Amino acid sequence: MPPADHHEILFEPVAIGPKTLRNRFYNVPHGTAYGVLRPSTWAAYRAVRAEGGWAAVSTEFSSVGPSSDEFPLHSSDIWDEEDARRHKLMVDSVHAHGALASIELHHGGAHAMRRISREPALSPSGLAPELPPPAGPPGTPKAMDLDDIERIEQAFVDAAVRARDAGYDIVDVLAGYGYLFAQFLSPFHNHRTDSYGGSLENRARFWLETLGSVRDAVGADCAIATRLSIETQGPWGHSLDESVELVRMADPLVDLWDLNVGSVLDWGSDISPSRVIPEGQNMEIFGRIRRATEKPVLGVSRWTSPDLMAQAVRSGVIDIVGSARQSIADPFFPSKVQEGRIEDIRECMGINQCISSLDRGNMTCAQNATAGEEYRRGWHPERFEPLTRPDVSVLVVGAGPAGMEAAIGLAKRGAEMVHLVDAAEHLGGHLRSVVDLPGLREWGRFIDHRMVQIEKLPNLQFIPSTRLSAEDVRDYGASHVVVATGARWSGTGLTPGTHAPLEGVVEGADRVFTPEQLLVEGRRPAGGSHVTVYDAEGVYMGAGIAQLLADEGYAVSVVTPHAQVAAEGDLTLDGPAIRASLHSSGVAMHREITLTVADQGRVLGVGEFEEPFSLETDALVLVTMRAPLDDLYQELVSDRETLAAVGIEAVHRIGDALSPRPIAESMFEGHRLAREFESPDPAVALPYAREPLRLVLEDRRR
Ligand code: ADP
Repeated sequence: MPPADHHEILFEPVAIGPKTLRNRFYNVPHGTAYGVLRPSTWAAYRAVRAEGGWAAVSTEFSSVGPSSDEFPLHSSDIWDEEDARRHKLMVDSVHAHGALASIELHHGGAHAMRRISREPALSPSGLAPELPPPAGPPGTPKAMDLDDIERIEQAFVDAAVRARDAGYDIVDVLAGYGYLFAQFLSPFHNHRTDSYGGSLENRARFWLETLGSVRDAVGADCAIATRLSIETQGPWGHSLDESVELVRMADPLVDLWDLNVGSVLDWGSDISPSRVIPEGQNMEIFGRIRRATEKPVLGVSRWTSPDLMAQAVRSGVIDIVGSARQSIADPFFPSKVQEGRIEDIRECMGINQCISSLDRGNMTCAQNATAGEEYRRGWHPERFEPLTRPDVSVLVVGAGPAGMEAAIGLAKRGAEMVHLVDAAEHLGGHLRSVVDLPGLREWGRFIDHRMVQIEKLPNLQFIPSTRLSAEDVRDYGASHVVVATGARWSGTGLTPGTHAPLEGVVEGADRVFTPEQLLVEGRRPAGGSHVTVYDAEGVYMGAGIAQLLADEGYAVSVVTPHAQVAAEGDLTLDGPAIRASLHSSGVAMHREITLTVADQGRVLGVGEFEEPFSLETDALVLVTMRAPLDDLYQELVSDRETLAAVGIEAVHRIGDALSPRPIAESMFEGHRLAREFESPDPAVALPYAREPLRLVLEDRRR
């Protein structure tokens, strides 16, 4: 099918300097946690985006030298020829699919990590960075002298030449996110009195000179772009008026403007999850920039809808649609739009699983199990290996994230019959009610996407409203059974910190609630109650329930043993917004408190230093930890002889029924089971390629 008429504009080519983008979809710089340290994982990850139709595919930030050593963050460094050799692997694999390859050249300045290089931090004026951890060793950076300025400018030029020689088509100089050039642009960081400080023109000088030198060196062969953070916020940022002025100044030096809004300190803005910012909110800001330049403008705005993308281009505000998160969730987004297969798009939920996992060493996605597994496990987002023995009839019990993903994968592999059975009326498992928490509506995209796929697969049938006992399962006639029955929240206040129930809690008592009782069963404390939410987990549930109850008019307190309410939210970048919202809804927050007793009418606990804590409360919601619901599995496997007698060859247990985890992990496990269904022991993952070991061995052989 051709693209819908109103999407055709997205497939027009765009000239940028000496290069041409084949369409208007640009896979913008974003971290992967792979980079040059895991070059094959990296190349395969980027290549599949090129294959999926993006016109350009970029690196993450690529440091130009050891004074910006970013380990353990994941820069795709380009310091020397060995780095360049690894980059070439990525460039060649992107080119093989007809996309342009782009590199984002970077120096972190005062914000560089420098953990391995142990070089002093460089900054415009030797003022300590305001960045919270992760950061480099604490201390006051060196104020750059003119030699430093010259050296770093040369490092950018050398890196650009290496990049050009490695085959990159676009060299993008990063002047955003609060890094070195942004620090020069900022009067908060830049107190210089020489020609690199003072007026906006002076503060822009280092960036402009570097852009000019990079252009002189490689501008004939490569398109020159610069990623500028506009309307940055906080004490150190620059205003929109200044951003417009900066664009005017640098316009002759660039072929493409790569714009984002916000920066490291307020990555809060662009990069925030769906609960904080709506899709496409940067349009007005981009509009101001548009009027200041004749060059093509590339902008990001957490776009996931091709309609909104096309509208943004048609309005003339941007020429090129930039995307990171949507490309992670669905590398084949452009192809699907082009083929008019909108219903097949795996839409990003804006849950920021990618961001939180990236910082912990492996970027994963809650929608797309194959992200990062293209090389490591050889998984392709759109292709499944057919089963060697398709004459199987698989019964999947439980239609939560794990069960849905396993059932779809097995059906796509050609299993003769897959039945997905759930006691509930609708697909989605525990996620179904999570979507009703304030701000989490877009998480429903996880279910929506799979619902469409399930409807399309003729060999997969969803059977709702059917609770199966072990006997029902044995009588079902399936050759294989997958148990994905999920988990339940502890009703006794069992916590990770104490490994013991909360004294005084009587499970099921009128004034004690679990998340399921509130969200699934619809129970509520008496009107006008003061409710305490004990959040020993620190992910989205505790804060979500507190907000829900506050919105319904209850007086709410949150008690948590963690240093912050919704501590995990600081990694998904909505922690501050969640807390601000609770605060403005009048929710009291008690941090670093471990509850010990729930008495009639109050809870007792201890603080960080064992100091006593006491709070009067009418009701208590326990968000402490989840336990697997695996009775069905245990009963089935306890009698293997009967299973064999009724023709059941294997029973697998996946998802929260095995170990309660975030949806990205339970979904991944369902996916893995489908991919490895015919392996000798599907309960155990097949070995995956571990690159660092391979490289060491190769180096030794040389
Ligand atoms: P996961 O996150 O592992 O996918 P969920 O808790 O989201 O798990 O989903 C588990 C699903 O299993 C729920 O929708 C629940 O209704 C269903 N379920 C649990 N036990 C049975 C059973 N015996 N028969 C049918 N469905 C079941």
